[in-house]
Parts: sequence; structure tokens; C-alpha cells
Amino acid sequence: MKLISVVVPCYNEQEVLPMFYDEIIKVTNGMKQEHSDIEFEFLFINDGSKDRTLEIFRELADKDERVRYISFSRNFGKEAGMYAGLKNSKGDFVVVMDADLQHPPAFLPQMYNYVKDGEFDCATTRRVSRTGESKVRSFFARMFYKIMNKISQTEIVDGAQDFRFMSRQMVDAVLSMSEYNRFSKGIFSWVGFRVQYMPYENVERPAGTTSWSFWGLFKYSLEGIMAFSTAPLSFSIFLAIFGAILSVLFVIAGIITTIFLPALGAALLVIGALLLVGAVQLGCTGILGMYLGKTYMEVKNRPIYLTGETDEMYRERKKNSSK
Ligand code: UDP
Ligand code: MG
Repeated sequence: MKLISVVVPCYNEQEVLPMFYDEIIKVTNGMKQEHSDIEFEFLFINDGSKDRTLEIFRELADKDERVRYISFSRNFGKEAGMYAGLKNSKGDFVVVMDADLQHPPAFLPQMYNYVKDGEFDCATTRRVSRTGESKVRSFFARMFYKIMNKISQTEIVDGAQDFRFMSRQMVDAVLSMSEYNRFSKGIFSWVGFRVQYMPYENVERPAGTTSWSFWGLFKYSLEGIMAFSTAPLSFSIFLAIFGAILSVLFVIAGIITTIFLPALGAALLVIGALLLVGAVQLGCTGILGMYLGKTYMEVKNRPIYLTGETDEMYRERKKNSSK
């Protein structure tokens, strides 16, 4: 028997939860008919909701013993919800999805087909359109992916989402990144593994409201940049180089001008000297930043490597498929 855990972080989702539950039951029952060797558990996370979300969890747990839940003492954010879900999931496979049906459960059967035999470690959706989203928001989202992918080694796919069907191996890898400031889009990409992207059109929420304000998203994107890049810390090095070049130009111009116009020449020399002092200071700050960046990455204590496959796993898989 293979257990599939469905992890659902929820914050004020009383409106959509009943709809979500009906839909997920329909889809998973269909999957059970197709594959006789799978079982499901549904692990709901209540992220400090102020509405009836927890009461709904209790009702669901009463009528369906496969339903488990964890209720936070306050709102910790979706990242904490996903982490708690992954950490407490028992499945051989784990699905993380939103409660608002923007991650359509109808994708699950196809996702399972990708991961079930170990062909892929993760199946996920990728938004190819941003319909239903404001132009300004789309513009800033695009900018974010551009900047992020320029300054960070970790590639973040534009339109990638937190709707993921993962093998236990990948889940454990994600959990091995125990950093406090979690930026899942980066973490999922950092751990690597074979990922299948499934394109899909954006779906709007059937009920309830998004908990993301524009400002909230902006702060979250800064979080992403800071979690996966130390480039801003050493940025001042570039300013320093620019300042130093400028200073040399001013000094040369100053020396030549002194011959014809001593007053102007002296002024240029003073500006050149000031620029040089500034550049030296910026350069020193940049060097400090580079060391701080290294320290920052060490403190995160990320794994040094992650195993994708070994001969043992390969042999095991071959044995199972020939059975
Ligand atoms: N969510 C959460 N904690 C929060 C905010 C959101 O667990 O502090 C959950 C929410 O209930 C939903 C998912 O995260 O299941 C995505 O949230 P939302 O739909 O508001 O975000 P969007 O789809 O607009 O990105
Ligand atoms: Mg949503």
C-alpha cells in the first residue's frame, strides 16, 4: 500500500473549505478506483484563522477518519503552514495545495502518474497566463523573476507555484533545509530533483478572498531575494569601482586644467580626492558585505549535497516493477 498525504494550509477559508473537501474526495476516490494500491490522508493546517476554519476541520475529522489537522496558536504565514504539513505528513508521496481551488484537484491523477514509478520526483503546475490579475501586479511579478534570476544561482521558474506532488525523498530534502526565513519557491528549486512542469491557465477563487496585499507580496519578494542571494550585500563594491574610476578622471582633468585655469583645476582635484575617499569607504563596506554574505549562508546550515538516486534505489525499483 502507498500512502499519499494531501497537505492544505488554510487561513480564513471557511467559505471554500466545504467545496474543496467535496472536490478532493471526488478526485481521490477516482484515483483509488484506478490504482488499487493507494490510500490517502488529508492533513489540514489551520494557520490561526479568525473564522470557522477550525470548526470545519473538526466536522471533517468527525466524518472522515483520514482527515488530520494541526491548528496553530496564531497566524504564522503560509510558509510555516507548509513546513508543518510536510513535517507531519506520513505519506510515501505528499501533495501540497491551496484550499481555494486555485490549485485544481483535477490535476492530481496526472501528477501521480508522473511520480508513481520514480520517473519524476515532483510534478507541479506552472501558470502560463496571469488572467484575473492586475497589469501592475503582473509587471512587478515579471520584474521580480528577472531580478531574482540575475542575482541568484537558484533558478526560479516564472509562474511556478506551490502546488506540488512530491516523493518522500524530495519532501525529506525540503525538510532538511531548516532555515527560519522560508521562501518555498526558492527551496523547491534549490533542492533540485527531476521536476515535471504542467502548464495551466490561471483559475480564480470561487469564494473567499486572497490574503495577499500588494505590499505583502512586495515584502515577500524581498524575502525571496534575501533568502537566496547575497548580491545586495556586496553591491557597494560596484559603486566603489565606479567612484574610483570617476575619481581618477577628475584628478587627471584637474592636473591638466591647473596649467591654464589654476582655480578650476584645484576644484577638480578636490572633487577627485573626495570621490576617492568615498570609493575607498564603499569598497571596505562591500568587502565586509561579502564576508557577511558567506557567514549568512553558513548560518542557514543548508545540506552540502542531496542524493537523487543510488544503485540501491535503482535495483529496488527494478525489482518492484518486475514483480
Ligand atoms: N494561507 C495560509 N496562511 C496565510 C495566508 C494564506 O495558510 O497567512 C493559505 C490560504 O488559506 C490558501 C493558500 O495559503 O490555502 C494561498 O493563499 P491565497 O489564496 O490567499 O494566496 P494567492 O492564491 O492569492 O497567492
Ligand atoms: Mg489563492
